[in-house]
Amino acid sequence: MSKYWSRLAQNLEPYVPGEQPQDKKYIKLNTNENPYPPSNKVIDAIKLVTDDKLSLYPDPNGSELKEALANYYNLDKDQVFLGNGSDEVLAFSFMAFFDSSESIIFPDITYSFYTVYANIFKINYELVPLNEDFTLPIKELYKKNGGVIFPNPNAPTGNCIPLEDIEKVLIKNINRVVIVDEAYIDFGGDSAVALVDKYPNLLVIQTFSKSRSLAGLRVGYALGNKDLIEGLNRVKNSVNSYTLDRLALKGAIAAINDENYFQETRNKIMDTRKRITSELIKIGFNVIDSKSNFLFINHSSIKAVDIFMKLRERAILVRYFKMPRIDNYLRVTIGNDKEMDIFIREVCKIV
Ligand code: PMP
Repeated sequence: MSKYWSRLAQNLEPYVPGEQPQDKKYIKLNTNENPYPPSNKVIDAIKLVTDDKLSLYPDPNGSELKEALANYYNLDKDQVFLGNGSDEVLAFSFMAFFDSSESIIFPDITYSFYTVYANIFKINYELVPLNEDFTLPIKELYKKNGGVIFPNPNAPTGNCIPLEDIEKVLIKNINRVVIVDEAYIDFGGDSAVALVDKYPNLLVIQTFSKSRSLAGLRVGYALGNKDLIEGLNRVKNSVNSYTLDRLALKGAIAAINDENYFQETRNKIMDTRKRITSELIKIGFNVIDSKSNFLFINHSSIKAVDIFMKLRERAILVRYFKMPRIDNYLRVTIGNDKEMDIFIREVCKIV
């Protein structure tokens, strides 16, 4: 604590991201990145920007990327908001739609950034405990609240809720904003984007970090009714005009336009997930049904923390959560086939 810090800075409880070693020593299965590189078309588009445009500010509205996303999802351009990664879109959403007058609700367990944002923006929240099997008790989201947010698929469990349940939540909460965080939706879940035109209270947040292999570029976006998007723009334009740089804008456009590469890589990840799930079950793991690019697992006899440590010694990073209820679970990102073969080989030596 420093005497120079504001009261705000003193009272923060910052999020601690998973370990990000910047060398290639590790097989990195700890922060749900895509094991495949971005499409070559993305690299080509970025190279063109680096050649002559970096001295100029980017388009503060990101119009070209908004248009590409609007076309892709069959929406209007003013139904699209852009942010520096979906974390930023989430932060702006907490500012734009939630306040301290009534508690917002979200699952326990879920993406840990939600409590961090609620704390910084002084938004009261109530946690909705997941069922024993980690499914979300939908009816708990019907109760009186100041807004709802949940990831679908959930993190770190990876399981999904069907669109019909999301629709019920939207109807019950028609006077409040319901945010569906779809960071992992492209790996097998049904997207609520299909409901955007029907429900004015729905905001869907997605990212280029996972299924588009662009975690390093930092591009996220929200899709929703144009009132909600306008609210987000008000907040964003009061903080920073240029949240997305030129490289990010051009790279993301190229990624959204390369549908073949997107389909090819997401299918590979889903195939690998299926194979690794059955291999893990064979060696005594309980594996939560996943529609994401990671698996949430625990072993019948070996403690998660021991497996985590032993894998680390073997230069394989997975995520261990030292939190009540899930402290005997590991979250393992689906890598490429070669990485996952090594992972399985080393896990077999441990369990
Ligand atoms: N939502 C969820 C559920 C996540 O797991 C993540 C990634 N850690 C994010 C949002 C943020 O992703 P990004 O900022 O890279 O778009």
